[in-house]
Amino acid sequence: MTHPSDNFDGDPRRWRTDVPRKGFVLVDVIDLGREYAKCEMCGHTPVRYQHHVLHTERNVHLLVGCICAEKLTEDYSDTGPAATEKRLKSAAAKKALKQARRRQQLENIYWRKSKKGHWWAKIDGKLIVIVPSKRGETYRLCIDGEFGRRSYLTQEAAQEGARDWARAMIDWEEGLS
Ligand SMILES: [Zn+2]
Repeated sequence: MTHPSDNFDGDPRRWRTDVPRKGFVLVDVIDLGREYAKCEMCGHTPVRYQHHVLHTERNVHLLVGCICAEKLTEDYSDTGPAATEKRLKSAAAKKALKQARRRQQLENIYWRKSKKGHWWAKIDGKLIVIVPSKRGETYRLCIDGEFGRRSYLTQEAAQEGARDWARAMIDWEEGLS
């Protein structure tokens, strides 16, 4: 996803003037993921890693980008804004890699035939069995022992349906996290 960016990220000339310019402490850094915010100090956008800084004496709470957070806190330590953001970025990269691998598995589903003649496969840790209707005209998916609502005219369509189901499940789970 690309976002329009600007070139005044953290530029003190863009800073608002109604709040202190230093003396803040870092409260937390939040990875907003796909939701982006605007830096409350310099107006820079998009800010994915939102730094919460607090000026205790003046009781000013700001949500800013990394560069402004560093300047406002003057904290360049291992628990400061940049180091914390770096750790979050590394965690996000690991998560993205894990998700990519999970999706990649869906491209190589290995279907086998059971003794009863049903096609089955392990998909994303779940046991999927393709079960024919009594008269053998349609097929349904049985996912970890529970029947899906959809029925398919062919086994190939059911296999494709299983892949779609797994993809939708992954999308849903990623949407939650
Ligand atoms: Zn800023």
